[in-house]
Amino acid sequence: MTNIILLGPPGAGKGTQAAMLVEERGMIQLSTGDMLREAKDSGTEMGKVVADVMARGDLVTDEIVIGLIREKLQGDKAGGFIFDGFPRTLAQADALGALMAEQGETLDYVIELQVDDEVLVDRIVGRAAEAVAAGGTARADDNAESLKIRLMAYYKQTSPLIGYYHAKGMLKGVDGLGTMDGVKAEIAGVLS
Ligand code: AMP
Repeated sequence: MTNIILLGPPGAGKGTQAAMLVEERGMIQLSTGDMLREAKDSGTEMGKVVADVMARGDLVTDEIVIGLIREKLQGDKAGGFIFDGFPRTLAQADALGALMAEQGETLDYVIELQVDDEVLVDRIVGRAAEAVAAGGTARADDNAESLKIRLMAYYKQTSPLIGYYHAKGMLKGVDGLGTMDGVKAEIAGVLS
């Protein structure tokens, strides 16, 4: 069983790659973004608290997301966990280490999807357009203004995790600019 973190800015392809790993390796995707959107859509108290923060593009509190992850780690472990969009702060990274140790689990790799900012903007704007074209609605935070804040949150709060996991010997950089299958093959190379 392999437990990994997918690290990278919004639009880097974390969700896309996670979905393929779930499909092909029976891993379990733990996306705090998906969990928060579910809470928001089902109108729970927590969902109401996070809705504005998320729409703006800021991070929700460490306490909330750590609580969500703690719950999931106690469930089915299947082919291992893919942490997608978590951790996003050093405090979350420390908490994850402690929670995994409690479960007798180890974190195997932190895969950093490396992409350029211009590509991110194009991908996010494209994702919003696709959602609308398919008759749905775009994510509330898939707009230029929120994206700016999300990118800043990534560089200020999340990118220090690159150094953190590098120092732990767990970091693997992957070029996220290739095709979906190209990136997938690079990740497979890390996992094999
Ligand atoms: P994502 O789907 O990963 O892009 O997350 C969407 C939004 O949910 C983020 O912009 C944050 O507002 C919130 N969020 C998701 N994961 C976290 C996290 N680990 N820590 C704080 N906020 C998060």
